[in-house]
Parts: sequence; C-alpha cells; structure tokens
Amino acid sequence: MPGQRPGFRGGRPGGSRPGGRPGGRGRSGGHRGRGEGGGAATATAVAVRPEHVELPSVISVKELADKLGVSVVEVIKALMKNGMMATVNHEIDYDTAAIVASDLGVESSEMSVAAQMGDGLGPATIDAAGHIEEDPAKLKPRPPVVTIMGHVDHGKTSLLDAIRQTSVATGEAGGITQHIGAYQVEKRGQKITFLDTPGHEAFTAMRARGARITDIAVIVVAADDGVMPQTVEAIDHARAANVRLIIAINKMDRPNANPDRVKQQLSDNGILVEDWGGDVVSVNVSARAREGIDELLDMIVLVADLADLKADPERPAIGTVVEARLDRNRGSVCTVLIRTGMLNKGDNLVVGGIYGKARAMFNDRGKEIKRADPSMPVEILGLSDVPEAGDMLEVFPDERLARAVAMERMREKRAEALAPASRLGLEDLMAQAEAGQNKELNLIVKADVQGSIGAIQHALAELGSDTLRVRMLHSGVGQVNESDVSLAIASKAIVVAFNVRVDPAVKKTADAEGVDIRSYNIIYKLTEDMTGALQGLLEPVYRDVMVARAEVRAIFPAGKTHKVAGVMVVEGTVTKNALARVLRNGEVVTTGRIASLRRFKDDVRELSSGSDGGILIEDMNDYQVNDLIETINRERVL
Ligand code: GDP
Repeated sequence: MPGQRPGFRGGRPGGSRPGGRPGGRGRSGGHRGRGEGGGAATATAVAVRPEHVELPSVISVKELADKLGVSVVEVIKALMKNGMMATVNHEIDYDTAAIVASDLGVESSEMSVAAQMGDGLGPATIDAAGHIEEDPAKLKPRPPVVTIMGHVDHGKTSLLDAIRQTSVATGEAGGITQHIGAYQVEKRGQKITFLDTPGHEAFTAMRARGARITDIAVIVVAADDGVMPQTVEAIDHARAANVRLIIAINKMDRPNANPDRVKQQLSDNGILVEDWGGDVVSVNVSARAREGIDELLDMIVLVADLADLKADPERPAIGTVVEARLDRNRGSVCTVLIRTGMLNKGDNLVVGGIYGKARAMFNDRGKEIKRADPSMPVEILGLSDVPEAGDMLEVFPDERLARAVAMERMREKRAEALAPASRLGLEDLMAQAEAGQNKELNLIVKADVQGSIGAIQHALAELGSDTLRVRMLHSGVGQVNESDVSLAIASKAIVVAFNVRVDPAVKKTADAEGVDIRSYNIIYKLTEDMTGALQGLLEPVYRDVMVARAEVRAIFPAGKTHKVAGVMVVEGTVTKNALARVLRNGEVVTTGRIASLRRFKDDVRELSSGSDGGILIEDMNDYQVNDLIETINRERVL
C-alpha cells in the first residue's frame, strides 16, 4: 500500500486529514509507531503499531487489526486467549477490543460519539435545519404528506374523517381505524399520508422544532362562511414553509354556500385559484355529504406528482415523531412518520434523546407490520421513555452506538434547555443575509387596523435591493399571538407590533425562544429601522438576557460601609465581574458589576446553581431578603 504513513493504518481518508480532530482516528496524540509487530503479518503493508488508538463502540476483527497495526491472526489469537472465538468479520465491542489492544501493548480509549458518527456509522447526513442529504441515484418516489388547515369550524376534522372513512370503505374493509396521529389512504394505487392533527398551529410548532414533514397543505374554507382571519393565517403559515397549497371549499351542501365569493376573497388575499386564472388548485367538497372527496384526493395526487417527492427506501430510516404517549399496558407508544429509509422491526433506535428497539410496529389500521417505508406513519413500541412530537428518529446499526448517541442527545437537550435562547434579532438576520444565507428579511406584522397594514406593506415594498428584500410572511389585525411567535421561530422572522399590545404571556414565550418583537406606533419609525437594518447603519440597541439567578436569603455587613447579600443560586452560574441586576417585586432596583463572590470565608470566581454564597455588587448596599439577583448578558439587538 503506497503512501502508508508511519504511526497509523487508518485506511480512511479522515485519518490523514492534516490538523484534523484532536485525538481523531488514527492520529492519536501524534505518537509515532514503534516499528515493531506485524512483521509476519499481512502482505499488504509494513504495519506499524501505534502506542495509542481511539476505538469505536463496535469494531470488526479486521478493522481492529488494521488499527493496531497487527495481523488479523494476532487479534484472533488474543481473543482466543481471552476465551472468545472470532473470525475476520466478527464484530466485537469496545471493552473486548480494548483488552485485545492492551494485550498487544497498545493503549486505547473510546471514540466520542460525534467522531463515530462522522465516520459513517450513523446517519450523519441531517443538517441543523433538518434537511436530509440523500444519494440522488437511490431516490424513489414517495407518497405526499398532507396537513389540513383552515379557520376553526370550517370542517378540518370532518374532512379528515370523511377521507379516512371513504378510503376504508373502498380499501381495506373491516380494518379498525385507529387514531395514531397520521393515516394513509390509497387513490388509484398511489398512497397519500394525512397528518391527523389539523391546523397551522401544530404545523408551525413542528416546523419550529425543525420538523418539516408536510408537503401539501389543504386549506379548508367553509363555502357559507368564507375566508376568515385564521384562513389567512393558515395560508401564510403554509406559504412561509414553501408548502404547496390546495383549496378545499367545504360545506357545499349548505344552501347558502357561495364558492365564488370564497374565490373572490382568496384572490383578495393573493391566492388565485385555477378558474380565476391562477395556478392554485381548488376543489368543492362536502365533508358531511361525502362529496368531492375523490376529486380532492385526485388533485392531491396530481399536485404531489408535480412536486416530484422522493426518498431513499434502502437506507436506515429517519423519521419524525408526530404523536407519543405512555400506555398503561403497552408502555411508551409513539407514532413516527418515516421521512426516508426503511424501518425494520428490531432496529436500534434513537428518538430525541431516548434509546430503544422497534420491538413491535403497527400501521394506522392497528395491524402489526415488520417494515415501514418512506412517508408511512408507524406506531412503535419499545422505547425506554416517551419522546416529544417533532423529535427525530434515527436508526443505528448497533445497539451500543445507539445508546451512546441517545445519551449524547439527552445531554445536548438538557444543555439547550438551560442555555438562554439564541436570538433571532434583526441584526442576526441581517448578518445571515449578508453571508448569503438569507435573501429576505422576514417580517410578521400585527396592527390595530387593516389600513395600517396596507400602509406598512406599501412602505416596506419600497425598501430593499435586488439581493435583499423585506418579505411580509404574515400580517393581521390584532394582538401578537402565540401563532405569530411560532411562525417567527419556524421562519426566522421578526414580529412587528404596530399600535397593538403584546400579551405578556406571548412576550414571555418570545423571550424564551429568542424571538424579537418590535413595537412601533409610527410607520416612519418602522421604515427607518428597516432601512437602517438593510443598510447596516443602526445605532446599537441592547437587550439583557438572564444568565443566572440567585435569591437573597440574608444580608451581612462587609467592612464599615458595604453589604453582602447572602444568596442561594437557583439557576445558572453566577460569575465574578458579571453584570447583575437586583429585582424587588419584579422591578429592577439597581444594576451593577459583581465586585466579589464569597463561598463561606473564601473569595471565589463563581457560584453554581444550588450553592449558597455571598454576592457583593458595586455601589449596592440596600439589599432586602427575597430580592432576586440576576446576572445578565447584554446583547446587541440592533
Ligand atoms: P374544524 O374545527 O375545522 O375541525 O371543524 P369540524 O370538522 O369540527 O366541523 C365544524 C362543524 O361544521 C361541525 O358541526 C361539522 O359537523 C360541520 N361540518 C363540517 N363539514 C361540513 C359539511 O361539509 N357540511 C355541513 N353542512 N357541515 C359541516
């Protein structure tokens, strides 16, 4: 083997990466081999034995021999000595491999999970935004995944029921219909998956968690009631997600049904249906009379065909949890929508931060199945805990790795829960735009009256350049609500509250999620900010993000004039020199630097959550018991 480096026989390109991961595969510690051993070995190379290797959770005998720079025979002999019979392709776990290594004079340590996944042992092909990288050559058509959205009482649930019942009648008669969070129907031999939780709130909440599972949104509008605020919201949420739309005009059986008026209203909201010269498919239906359902399904198949939806049914499965619960008899039960790959009974799974085996799997008709392919909803039993909707499912080839990954994910989740939410401030979005990641500055505008929205729309349309535009994802009359915040998270948008109040509960969610809600009462100020943002000329604006919190339990004198607050840290870690504010009954009393921290009699640099100690803040001498001391990070918002 030409080009063999001394010190390792990585055999993988990763091993020879200069300046690669410290301690990474094959370059551990930079030790040179000792040039012994393996002399009588394979004919492939002058193997060089390293002093230290990093080993994965599971390794084949052949790979281990390669890593240790010895012959396969030597590894097998060492295994036999330890009472284990093995062949070349036999897979052994890390503990066993470490004993073999040690017997052969090589120290070893277990590779980090991240490093192992990077080596292709796990699905390292999902990026942060949840996109799955696939091999184009292996892609096959997959069924579309459909969500039904629309204004309350316009018939979303009725339509879902009608579709399911129609298809059960024509399809698998006698099948028990179970509500597992999603179901599949067949139309002209083509499958369609419906998500059973209707509404754009659920849709956007999932999207905010990085779960993009819907391909087509069916917007239900009652023919007698017409387009309503939540219809517009649903349309905007679907559009913000770049999901294809189909309009279902429902309740056509009602005597006062007026589909033309609905189409007119849709056009007023920027949706041109086909018979109005647009390209959005619209179907008249009656969920109650079971009319138009077939045509709706035909249209879904048609729109799906145009979307050219594909997945790789051969790879290990990746899916998204759509529903999960604890069943008294069956334990953890979750419904997963397979996004790509094949899920097989018995697979090792990591779902969110939970490990498990697909002990048993059921389809939406309650029938036990052994395999589930892309876009199929499947109920899974066998997880050690209950995951959350939106969690990702991944299949791992071996159990140890799956466990290790689950542990790592759980750690990450906990850390995320503790860390202050990363902001989606105007400035960050601009930075991303400049870096070429965003070409649009997304806004959600809530205003007091429709007239303000029109005026804002008009003013914003003038802004921006060819490369960067302000895009109004959604606008509406009324307070900023939870749905706006979740749309902002899912779409990286800023919320503008124009002449409207922001509900404190909504503000709290926005703060926790790092969503920037900006209040204005004159359009000029809004456009000025946006122009400034677009030109990068804004005066910096800061906001405080809480890092740690301590409760004042007692007050002690310090020297002649100073006071020390005796505290218990209840959240985060208080550090010396941090900026702190003292809150009394929710009001900020003072803000200053932490001059010193005490633990018992000692000066310390930090006090972590759960510990008692003393805090001395510059120029602060009138603490009261029950005051809160919060350390803060002052972040630039604009
Ligand atoms: P959702 O809130 O959008 O899920 O709406 P539902 O499916 O719960 O329906 C709201 C009401 O409208 C219920 O009383 C339904 O029976 C009724 N409804 C739904 N579809 C139709 C329909 O096609 N025709 C008539 N006449 N009523 C319908």
